[in-house]
Amino acid sequence: MNVINIPFNKPFMTGCELGYIAQAHINGHLAGDGMFTKKCHDWLEAYTGVYKALLTHSCTAALEMAAILANIQPGDEVIMPSFTFVSTANAFVLRGGIPVFVDIRPDTLNIDETKIEAAITRRTKAIVPVHYAGVACEMDAIMEIAQRYKLLVIEDAAQGIMSTYKGRPLGSIGHLGAYSFHETKNIISGEGGALLVNDERFAERAEIIREKGTNRSQFFRGQVEKYTWVDVGSSYLPGEIIAAFLWAQMEEADPITGQRLAIWQHYHEAFKELEVNGMVRRPVIPTSCTHNAHMYYLLLNSLDARTAFIAGLKKQGISSVFHYVPLHSSLYGKHIGRAADAMTNTNRISERLVRLPLWLGLEQHQPTVINLIQSELKQVLGSGF
Ligand SMILES: *Cc1c(COP(=O)(O)O)cnc(C)c1O
Repeated sequence: MNVINIPFNKPFMTGCELGYIAQAHINGHLAGDGMFTKKCHDWLEAYTGVYKALLTHSCTAALEMAAILANIQPGDEVIMPSFTFVSTANAFVLRGGIPVFVDIRPDTLNIDETKIEAAITRRTKAIVPVHYAGVACEMDAIMEIAQRYKLLVIEDAAQGIMSTYKGRPLGSIGHLGAYSFHETKNIISGEGGALLVNDERFAERAEIIREKGTNRSQFFRGQVEKYTWVDVGSSYLPGEIIAAFLWAQMEEADPITGQRLAIWQHYHEAFKELEVNGMVRRPVIPTSCTHNAHMYYLLLNSLDARTAFIAGLKKQGISSVFHYVPLHSSLYGKHIGRAADAMTNTNRISERLVRLPLWLGLEQHQPTVINLIQSELKQVLGSGF
């Protein structure tokens, strides 16, 4: 009888979170943009090199701000992968935009940059590359296309903090970028996110949109005499309690990434032989990228094999999950969006991908977990799948 119980995710705490939250409480500043928010902004700006970083409630909120900044109007088209989380599309759909889905590459599972140009029409306004599993899209090619067609590039870097493309942090390459600090990501605050403003032209308006359409931020800096309604906007800023929690995590971003990478590498080596034998396919990291070990996944041979594998692991006490239902084949995606091509890789891969547990603290159980995964794979694949 097996006694292990390995969840798919377990949020990591550094130990400093509660102390910083107490400090925010003592400071008596609980609304947004206090001392801890400032620390997080400074850290993000220093680490990414962007002109301005702004904390938000979520990556979803940051993408919504980006859609407003991009001035998306009803009927405007936005190019993105279908193999992504709904927020990538929803943020633009809220403004009347039409998501145009492009297939992914079979290696990194990122948007296939060679298929983007064919999807561009007179209505295209922006390209939204998603850095799947914290592994960079081919940003040089994407930026070149965007420049040629005068399109904006908004990076959905929800999974991409601490990863680089040719030495540049993800989220800092396009005009705008978005991070997530959701508890399933690497650096967390429960719910949370950030908008990265790389193109200086968007900075002033980004602050206004985040502060309910007012010039409150400029007023506090003494740049304007009155604080008033100047544009559309909403309340996109988190309170200081969240920022205090997040600051504890940012301080530890390097060791957190290092420990995740060690777990990732351990999996990667353990499944090498299965890949050589053609039983699974492992993640591919292009040499132009460093990654943050956000995710470890395997690609199996069929949907049936994956279903049997996940069920088998569950019986052994290990939780594994799959995602995404491709947006172009989802109920709402079919209604509101358009697939730009046959979506062959997206359809195939979304049926075969399985994500394995990856969280700090898994190290001590990993040899057992790996053994169970290996024997489950052999059993499932040996039974004819
Ligand atoms: C997690 C995720 C989001 C949403 O992040 P939230 O902070 O939960 O809003 C968006 N896009 C991708 C690719 C994600 O992985």
